[in-house]
Amino acid sequence: MNALQSWGRLFPAHSGPVWRPDERSSLLPHPEIGGLLPYGQGRSYGDVCLNTGGTLLHTAGLNRFIAFNRSTGILRCEAGITLREILALTVPQGWFLAVTPGTRDVTVGGAIANDVHGKNHHSAGSFGHHVLQMELLRSTDERLLLSPQQQPELFAATVGGLGLTGLIVWAEVQLVPVHNAFMTVETTRFANLDEFWLLNTQAERLWPYTVAWIDCLAKGAHQGRGILMAGRHAAAQDELPVWKEQIKTIPVTPRISLVNNLSLRAFNTLYWHRAHEGVSLSHYVPYFYPLDGISHWNRIYGRAGFYQYQCVLPPEAMQAGMAELLTRIARSGEGSFLAVLKTFGQRPSAGLLSFPRPGATLALDFPNRGASSLKLFRELDAVVQHAQGAIYPAKDARMSATMFQQAFPQWEQFRRWADPAFSSDFWKRVTQPEK
Ligand SMILES: Cc1cc2nc3c(=O)[nH]c(=O)nc-3n(C[C@H](O)[C@H](O)[C@H](O)COP(=O)(O)OP(=O)(O)OC[C@H]3O[C@@H](n4cnc5c(N)ncnc54)[C@H](O)[C@@H]3O)c2cc1C
Repeated sequence: MNALQSWGRLFPAHSGPVWRPDERSSLLPHPEIGGLLPYGQGRSYGDVCLNTGGTLLHTAGLNRFIAFNRSTGILRCEAGITLREILALTVPQGWFLAVTPGTRDVTVGGAIANDVHGKNHHSAGSFGHHVLQMELLRSTDERLLLSPQQQPELFAATVGGLGLTGLIVWAEVQLVPVHNAFMTVETTRFANLDEFWLLNTQAERLWPYTVAWIDCLAKGAHQGRGILMAGRHAAAQDELPVWKEQIKTIPVTPRISLVNNLSLRAFNTLYWHRAHEGVSLSHYVPYFYPLDGISHWNRIYGRAGFYQYQCVLPPEAMQAGMAELLTRIARSGEGSFLAVLKTFGQRPSAGLLSFPRPGATLALDFPNRGASSLKLFRELDAVVQHAQGAIYPAKDARMSATMFQQAFPQWEQFRRWADPAFSSDFWKRVTQPEK
């Protein structure tokens, strides 16, 4: 079995005990204070899924579908089932996930615990909005049924609860109907950020899914240029293209990152010029999960690993704030392939500690260049803090306790619901007093 690590490969693989919860046997080891943490597929970039010195509850054995009603689209499954497995079962039967992140290789438990969002936040909210009920196992061996109606406070703490309220054993989610596996996609280039804001406002009225890719290395008149991809599930039609997934793999981890300034500039420029504008039909896999076609793509950043910086800025500060962030990133020359820009809608999140909130979110990968990367992140943090924004815990490996506590003021209220036997490296970092 692969070592349990997080996606950014910044931290050593887990070297402590691993417990594989299984519905058919007893579910939890003897708890000690802060000694446990659920682990799904390790698709979180930083340390929310790590607990150094503790036991990881690897949910790969919680892998059964329990019930699927193809008339209502209600699916009940164990929490270690991945979104890939769900789509393989339900798309041929005309149902799709109501919300999906940018990879299918996350578990239902992980999707709930980070209350993940997708390209349709403005129309559908985040993953937690579509959870009808779930079972939570506490370290006291209590099994609790949670829903927005039953134990609503513990439900709200568990959605976006970073695995700290206990182990989600199974969940029931509402899917949405689709005619087929294809998406109608409209691709439009924009020359700068001002054009993006206009285009995006129009697109959000017409399309349930919108997302933009930004060339974060472009400067001057080209700053903020990018491509907006708006989409909806395709209508019923007699003929559909044939699509077959072709997986490539990065077989080994190079000693140093293959991502450097030269390769990035060439890639970004080419990508922008090559984009085919207009409306087309795309299978859902390349539309939602472009990176799933290259397994182990995180290895291209070399042995030092990489960071993802994802923040959200509130509506009143997002335009000026995003321009400022992009200026600093372009000036640093540290940028990444895919800078993703997306607006969040107004729907309040279902979780107490959920990251999504009204405004705009920017996400970028950065090769780990040690001190120079950290220096840039401190500059970006200052912009985010000034705008009263927040950093996404699922992607974070370094934010300070002060920054977390300012952006997630409900964290103290949340503590009441956390299970004392559960903790994570992330949680210790953001709740313990800074040195
Ligand atoms: C290529 C890529 C694209 C991504 N795109 C997006 C995106 O568009 N939007 C977005 O929101 N996120 C995105 N992410 C992040 C990813 O969706 C989240 O980090 C997700 O939570 C990972 O799920 P996982 O199963 O791998 O969980 P892990 O990373 O293993 O764990 C995540 C958290 O969930 C907890 N957890 C896991 N299982 C359970 C359980 N059964 N019970 C209780 N707690 C549990 C863990 O303790 C941990 O705190 C992306 C990640 C990658 C690699």
